[in-house]
Amino acid sequence: MIWIILVLYAIYSGIKIYAAMAEIGYISQAKNWKPVILSAPNYEKAAGYKIAVQKFTILSTLYDTALFAGWILFGLSYLSAHVIFENTLIHSVALVILFIAINYVLTLPFELYQTFGLDKKFGFSTIDAKTFFFDQIKSAVMFILFGGAFFWVMSAIIASFNYWWFYGFLFSLGVILFINMIYPIVIVPLFNKLTPLEDEHLKSSIETLLKQAGLKSSGVFSLDASKRDNRLNAYFGGLGSSKRVVLFDTLIAKLEKHELLAVLGHELGHFKHKDILKNIASSALMLLIMFALFGNLPQSLFESLHVKKEAFSIMVLFLLFSPLISFVLMPLFGLMSRYNEYRADEYGSMCESKEALCSALVKLADENKSFPFSHPLSIALYFTHPPLTQRLEKLGMHFSKEDR
Ligand SMILES: [Zn+2]
Repeated sequence: MIWIILVLYAIYSGIKIYAAMAEIGYISQAKNWKPVILSAPNYEKAAGYKIAVQKFTILSTLYDTALFAGWILFGLSYLSAHVIFENTLIHSVALVILFIAINYVLTLPFELYQTFGLDKKFGFSTIDAKTFFFDQIKSAVMFILFGGAFFWVMSAIIASFNYWWFYGFLFSLGVILFINMIYPIVIVPLFNKLTPLEDEHLKSSIETLLKQAGLKSSGVFSLDASKRDNRLNAYFGGLGSSKRVVLFDTLIAKLEKHELLAVLGHELGHFKHKDILKNIASSALMLLIMFALFGNLPQSLFESLHVKKEAFSIMVLFLLFSPLISFVLMPLFGLMSRYNEYRADEYGSMCESKEALCSALVKLADENKSFPFSHPLSIALYFTHPPLTQRLEKLGMHFSKEDR
């Protein structure tokens, strides 16, 4: 049984590494094409960044595979044999948190390299060590509080019901909805400063746009994203009465007013088409599949791992396997999401104009140094947004292929 699991994981890692290598080959070629969308220096930098990220992905995939094998072969049985608490609930909560904490420490070097090596080298990351440190502390405290409470309830559910997986699913879904609701008003302000938009002119244009779309929101805010990263973004977050428009200060600084409104129009398109609800519904379906799967694991699996079939081992297996399962389901989700992006673009260009959205997208890509081309395999496996060239072509821009 153990070997079947390890082979499955190796296949998953193999596909990821193959896709990364194909992407590196593709971009190494595309790098020499005549630059489109981005300025020549940014085009080259973007290609360099993307290749560096893929190399990093290969390395971290290999490392994750070793980590997974370590847990499966001896880590789990060691942990459950050596860390024991009398109270069964405390036992499973403490072990799951310990498992996550060990994983966090073991993968921290990769996160440090990504933030302070890679993203600094290419000029994205502006975060200083102090901000990073306090971010980590805040996340850890929140994780222990809320994660601890979550695993506590989940352990109790697993221990109490025969069809625990169904109740566990309902509970997780409730938590996801709750987080979506409180995220913009409770969690974001813990990490960033939100200030009501000062530019009255822009604010009233945005409010007109919202009214046209028939949406109520609890305000338009600027977020000090620049203290961590130079990349631009905007979102329309929250559920119900917590809905609000959030513009990154980096976006306000770089875009003209009509471009900003086009980007916002795109975000409103998502709301108008109920894409956020659709996303939550498809995540719920994904979650239900996973719970049904993990609620019916055979006893023999636990025996071959040398652990008892209990809340702790079930939850940890869930955590260990979730990347693999979402990897399988992601292409489907991506397909739906890419279709929704085209429709949101249509709506955004209707709010302002195709030209405004095009020039905003081009500016975003140039500032974010996002390379406009990708290998088809990467697109199919991971992309939630269509490649920029395809989005711009749908909006009426044309790119000649003669120069390649
Ligand atoms: Zn979008």
